[in-house]
Amino acid sequence: MLPSDDRFPFRGKRFFFGGEVMDGMVLTDLEKRLFRRQIQIPEIGEAGQARLLKSRTLVVGLGGLGSPALFYLTACGVGEIGMMDGDTVDLSNLQRQILHGFGDVGRLKTSSAHEALRRLRPDVRFNVYPESLSQDNAVQIISRYDFIIEATDNFESKFLINDVCVRLGKAFSHAGILGMIGQTMTIVPGKGPCFRCLFEDIPPSGVVRTTDQTGVLGSLPGVLGAIQSTEAIKYLTGIGRLLVGRLLTFDALTMAFREISLPMDKRCRECGKPEEG
Ligand SMILES: [Zn+2]
Repeated sequence: MLPSDDRFPFRGKRFFFGGEVMDGMVLTDLEKRLFRRQIQIPEIGEAGQARLLKSRTLVVGLGGLGSPALFYLTACGVGEIGMMDGDTVDLSNLQRQILHGFGDVGRLKTSSAHEALRRLRPDVRFNVYPESLSQDNAVQIISRYDFIIEATDNFESKFLINDVCVRLGKAFSHAGILGMIGQTMTIVPGKGPCFRCLFEDIPPSGVVRTTDQTGVLGSLPGVLGAIQSTEAIKYLTGIGRLLVGRLLTFDALTMAFREISLPMDKRCRECGKPEEG
């Protein structure tokens, strides 16, 4: 039985914010078998699966959030995937960064991630960036992707991704985790608030606690990273209602999700527009 339209109020409507619509693309027999359970979903179908296979997603940060996001983006059929991280695997990462294993300690995270994902789907085009995102490389790298997953653990990277994505008109998913609490929002430039509309600027060091100081439950980024990959898939296939202007918070201790509606900030230095007249 199909779910009722109450649960899928956007059925039949396409909310596609960017990129090319490629309904004409034909799937191979292998792709039809590989993605059969997804193609069965009316909102996706063969056309949606074809769009995913033609799409490019970049994941910045191969840690707790990036791990589940990358596993699902790869498994669900994104055609080209960029992965970026300049760090090496530390023993204390393994409790949540499920792309990496015991034998990977000391290796570049991009190397162990690439290996794990290639096992899952050898047909994907993987682009590996064993470096940190910086002012020097951000525009060049981000501009070749359709959607960005911001899976970083520091404000410098979060603001840099936001500013470059807003300037290039690229959609991205933000997420943050701490202790047993997480939050996520999708930013589509011009369609809703950006990260700076919420947080304005990098807080002075020491004001906001980090996961290094506070710790984080290993399964928490699993929930948030899976949501980020789901948002990417929705954006890339042009279905559903994205977390645009909606900050979703998750408290693992009470198992409560909350949604906070957020308007665009007209005075935002990245996406604000001066009042007319
Ligand atoms: Zn803004």
